[in-house]
Amino acid sequence: MQEKNRYAGIDAFRIPAAILVVAIHTSPFAVFSDSADFFLTRVLARIAVPFFFMITGQFVLSDYLTETWEPFVKIGKYLKKMLVFYGISILLYLPIGIYAGHYKNLTIPLLFKMIVFDGTFYHLWYFPACMVGILLLCLLKRFFTIRGMYAAAGLLYAAGLFGDSYYGLAEKIPAAASIYEAGFSIWSYTRNGLFMAPVFFLCGVYAGRCKSCIGSKKVRKKRFCACLCFAVSFLLMTAEAFTLRYFDMQRHDSMYALLIPVVIFFYQMLLLGPCRKEKDSWMERTVSLVIYIIHPAIIVALRLAAKVSGFSAPAENSLVQFALTAVLSYAAAYVIAVILRRIRQSRERKKQEMLKSRTWVEIDSDALGNNVKFIRNILPENCKLMPAVKANAYGHGDVKIASCLRRMGVDAFCVACVNEGVRLRRAGIGGEILVLGYTHPVQFDLLRRYCLSQTVVDSAYAKQLQLYGKKLHVHIGIDTGMHRLGERWENTEEILQIFRIKNLIVDGIYTHLSADEEKGEANRQFTMSQAAHFSMVLDELKEHGIRQPKVHMQASYGVFNYPALCGDYARVGIALYGVLSTGEDTAEWREALKPVLSLKTRVASVREIYAGETAGYGFSFTAKRTMKIAALSIGYADGFPRMLSNGKGAVLIRGSIAPVVGMVCMDQTLVDVTEIADVCTGDVAVVIGISQEKEISVCDLAQRLGTITNEILSRIGERAERVTINGFRCRN
Ligand SMILES: *Cc1c(COP(=O)(O)O)cnc(C)c1O
Repeated sequence: MQEKNRYAGIDAFRIPAAILVVAIHTSPFAVFSDSADFFLTRVLARIAVPFFFMITGQFVLSDYLTETWEPFVKIGKYLKKMLVFYGISILLYLPIGIYAGHYKNLTIPLLFKMIVFDGTFYHLWYFPACMVGILLLCLLKRFFTIRGMYAAAGLLYAAGLFGDSYYGLAEKIPAAASIYEAGFSIWSYTRNGLFMAPVFFLCGVYAGRCKSCIGSKKVRKKRFCACLCFAVSFLLMTAEAFTLRYFDMQRHDSMYALLIPVVIFFYQMLLLGPCRKEKDSWMERTVSLVIYIIHPAIIVALRLAAKVSGFSAPAENSLVQFALTAVLSYAAAYVIAVILRRIRQSRERKKQEMLKSRTWVEIDSDALGNNVKFIRNILPENCKLMPAVKANAYGHGDVKIASCLRRMGVDAFCVACVNEGVRLRRAGIGGEILVLGYTHPVQFDLLRRYCLSQTVVDSAYAKQLQLYGKKLHVHIGIDTGMHRLGERWENTEEILQIFRIKNLIVDGIYTHLSADEEKGEANRQFTMSQAAHFSMVLDELKEHGIRQPKVHMQASYGVFNYPALCGDYARVGIALYGVLSTGEDTAEWREALKPVLSLKTRVASVREIYAGETAGYGFSFTAKRTMKIAALSIGYADGFPRMLSNGKGAVLIRGSIAPVVGMVCMDQTLVDVTEIADVCTGDVAVVIGISQEKEISVCDLAQRLGTITNEILSRIGERAERVTINGFRCRN
């Protein structure tokens, strides 16, 4: 799928930002004048690090800090990555540090100061600052709302300012001076993870929350505004910096009051910059990171080379030193990134091949994207998708499907039971997750721990939820004729009573349609009466002054056959996976919906059997002539129904049909390949999907077995690996 890269501007500035950091460490303009150097490295280049903090804020922290539903997993992964980069960098600079005598009088407190705040080498403060800042914000989240966090981070930054550019003022007040002095025994500067990083992380969070106007008519005007605001604030910040310098206020020169607006407007400018076609930003990310890590080593190497060769320009002329460092760092980083990408790709390929070694499900993420887009187009703007990812996402692999859907902007899911919700959360899936089924009270703690919403299945169940006592998010189920779960719609008093239970936070109310296939007038009338009863319940709520929670009733068929019955959510399951329950219904939407799943397996063994011989368990199959049969690595335990035994089912091998021979076993199935040339061990057999010109659809299977596609799909076993093909490439 061709998606515009909304973040092209951000990606384009990554490498220049890294080069600015190189400038800070080489002072290129020092050859001209101190002021020119000050402007470049202590004013302009100060944008670079906050820019990187903002990216982390927007793409890593934003969801976790602003949503109750977001698990910590993504941040945990990011922290681990930072730790690895920091570790590698420490090892890289250890010899230089030892040579330069940095660690001569090392004590434990000093080591702590170095590792946690200052960085073990002069430029490495960035990694610990990231980690400390992130952990601090996650801690703050426990006590503050997002506004409180903004305020706290702002105060910390202000405190940091007076230990940095404005230290001259703090110094004049003895009490403040002694506090800062005490602080400086724990960290050498206030530009660290405690004082500086949090505010810029939150700037990134803020940028991520702003609605994108790309593609709208307003974008030119907004872009112009952002440029103007940036120019003005940057001018003012330059004045601020030079004034502070003039009055000799600065203890250090990393933090300015106006750096915050400057960076925000600058980032906005980049966000509103012209779009490119989608492109993976992996190279930019990696090259800028590697430049950042290695450039001091290149500076050291250049000095060394100058000493040895006697050619002193690189050491003495800072402009030459900068140019050489920048070019060499870039070149080295580029080469390293290319090598890393090769390694990554070949590893990725190998991993994919590994998954396809026995029986596997292929998930076409482009097809999923297509279906999501199509269904969203049918739904009115204010009705959001709440995909049903129960039963392992109808056999497709719940974590895979849910994370694909998250990237497509889905922020609510429904599952059948608590354990399914827990599994998704543990894999890092955010957004609201509604449990549609019954949850035993012993599992109520899990609902809380994993931020899952529970369905109130009837009023007796509401009492159990009440007895639990602790706060729980719930959606109230209403029975309007399915007679499965939900409180009966007529029981108004009972329904109102549920709203009065103190510990229940009622986020939604819903019903389920039981006859929404298009099957004639009786079905239509029944469905309309279900809808009418449901809306009578909603009217009752209004009459009693109860704020209406989110409302939903449609599943897949409801969306297609009764578009007018939409609410705040549509709980779409089967249609998202590109089929409907029967072949007939599916055919109607063939142009619009694309099947997401294929099921494939490997030929384990090929052999001849002779007339009169039987094959498989029992004597259900006897060969009438010499024939060639293949054993496939799939059985009923993998979800290939035993009902397909003895020619009822077939698979595709090399584009030809191979009917099932004998009884389907638990782990293997025999098929007739007499008519197919060259079948050999390791060949792919398609159970559901396309092989050359032929196709076996899940609808064919369902029809043959007298069931619906939902059953076939959801019974595909755990043992089959799930592999994603095509790439709906988006950012995490
Ligand atoms: C399974 C389920 C859905 C999804 O149904 P599809 O027909 O697959 O779209 C919606 N709501 C409830 C209550 C369900 O159990």
